[in-house]
Amino acid sequence: PKPVHIIGAGLAGSEAAWQLVSAGVPVILHEMRPMRGTDAHQTDKCAELVCSNSFRSDDAENNAVGLLHEEMRRAGSLILKSADKHKLPAGGALAVDRDGFAEAVTATLTSHPLVTFERGEIAGLPPAEWDNVIIASGPLTSPALAEAILTLTGEASLSFFDAIAPIIHKDSINLERAWFQSRYDKVGPEGDGADYINCPMDKPDYLAFIDAVLAGEKTEFKEWEGTPYFEGCLPIEIMAGRGPNTLRFGPMKPIGLFDPHAQRRPYAVVQLRQDNALGTLYNMVGFQTKLKYAEQVRVFRMIPGLENAEFARLGGLHRNTFINSPKLLDHSLRLKADPRLRFAGQVTGVEGYVESAAIGLLAGRFAAAQRLGQTLTPPPLTTALGALIGHITGQADAKTFQPMNVNFGLFPEIDAPEGLNKAQLREWKAGRKPRLSARALTELQSWLNRSAQA
Ligand code: FAD
Repeated sequence: PKPVHIIGAGLAGSEAAWQLVSAGVPVILHEMRPMRGTDAHQTDKCAELVCSNSFRSDDAENNAVGLLHEEMRRAGSLILKSADKHKLPAGGALAVDRDGFAEAVTATLTSHPLVTFERGEIAGLPPAEWDNVIIASGPLTSPALAEAILTLTGEASLSFFDAIAPIIHKDSINLERAWFQSRYDKVGPEGDGADYINCPMDKPDYLAFIDAVLAGEKTEFKEWEGTPYFEGCLPIEIMAGRGPNTLRFGPMKPIGLFDPHAQRRPYAVVQLRQDNALGTLYNMVGFQTKLKYAEQVRVFRMIPGLENAEFARLGGLHRNTFINSPKLLDHSLRLKADPRLRFAGQVTGVEGYVESAAIGLLAGRFAAAQRLGQTLTPPPLTTALGALIGHITGQADAKTFQPMNVNFGLFPEIDAPEGLNKAQLREWKAGRKPRLSARALTELQSWLNRSAQA
């Protein structure tokens, strides 16, 4: 078969290349380093880890990223195989010797007979004769390529920064303090006037909260991230620093809301908005922040109703080139406006080394199937791979789309059997994650078997 072109030999591009050649499809892998660098990479190796050397938890039973590791192993992932081979002691986490890891990925790909490695930047749209392309150019996509993507997607659908507000598991929100209501009970297109969860604050709560936000430790904005903030998505600590009432007249304004528990209008409010179609995740509206992760957990649990909040992801603000995948991509990661182009990795709006590689794995398999005239359906939503691709290509709300880590909130729940008593129900809840994992691995296997027969 004719080769598939891949732009970027990072985590996603390397994994995509491996999946393609494993299916017998030749690959031309374009990597701009070392001729042209990024602000974070330091070597010319494939799959360089630009920051931490950790792939996070390796616990496949209780942690969604650990489950994603296991699914990728079963799907023959080169990234996971190389990580396992260069694993360092790190408790329950999968940490790697970054040099050994990147060297292993590079050696496997460069020595493979079906891989042609071409060094050089793709500084615009891929030539028209490339009929099957994977763009895996990452969060630091070169400006010329980003510019070209912009012409295809439109300005509103390509971001150069993420401005991430924390996302909370709904079942950890205390609805004896918080309540459902839209401002002025306004009814949205699909809503019933109660689309938001509201957490009330009285004046002392609010002032203590502002103090905590201002005093909390922040992460530094790296030099190369030094582009000014957009007024539309200022971090809360910047707003709080402008005066004690700025947040109360901004995202925390209480107008149009009434606290049914206290029977009064609150002094200030934190609003949470549904974040996924399943309704299991809620984001904190307007709460993008550079507070350090541990500080976010401490400070945000001061909010009435969020005392025991469990965070599916914490807030942040980074240089990050990514497209609005829920709007732009089809279910096999192709650009609807130009289906010869497929996207993979962080640029699709997933977040993290493992997630980027996972989307690379799927993009590689889709591109191979297309080249071989086979049809491949995405893995079911009940698997970690399926939940992740399902989120970016459909489940997530395009209007508020921001990068996402894999987490169990993306999986459809398994309902408890009828008629359990309280103790049995508690036991059932405690088994939630292992139960979701077990279902995922069974259904992944069926998907792999179906794919192999295709
Ligand atoms: P990359 O691994 O960046 O690969 C993209 C490749 O494309 C690069 O090799 C680049 O040189 C190449 N390229 C770009 N443009 C072109 C072009 N026009 N032509 C040819 N080649 C091109 N995730 C974590 O899990 N843990 C972390 O600690 C972490 N730290 C991060 C720190 C920073 C500074 C950044 C920016 C991101 C971080 N991430 C982290 C997020 C993300 O997981 C990584 O960026 C990950 O490498 C993304 O994988 P990728 O394959 O999408 O992109």
